[in-house]
Amino acid sequence: MNQCRKCGQLKPASEFSRHAVSKGSRPKYCKDCISKREKLWRIKNFAKYTEAMRAYRKRPEVHESRMDYQRLYRWRKQLEARTDGS
Ligand SMILES: [Zn+2]
Repeated sequence: MNQCRKCGQLKPASEFSRHAVSKGSRPKYCKDCISKREKLWRIKNFAKYTEAMRAYRKRPEVHESRMDYQRLYRWRKQLEARTDGS
């Protein structure tokens, strides 16, 4: 049995993730606590990521290149439609 340092519960070794364990040292946190922490970390980072993307899209040169891409896409669609018709 190992004790989780986060929730303080005594749990069997199977409740502790093994990949994080290096030789000799015992895992500190149980799987529950690790998955909870990872979920929180992901939520935090996702917010950071979307914020960065929003700022990136606001840049004028990015906006223009997106427009170019749309034009290109439309043009390609037209080409495809033409080849399908023949
Ligand atoms: Zn725990």
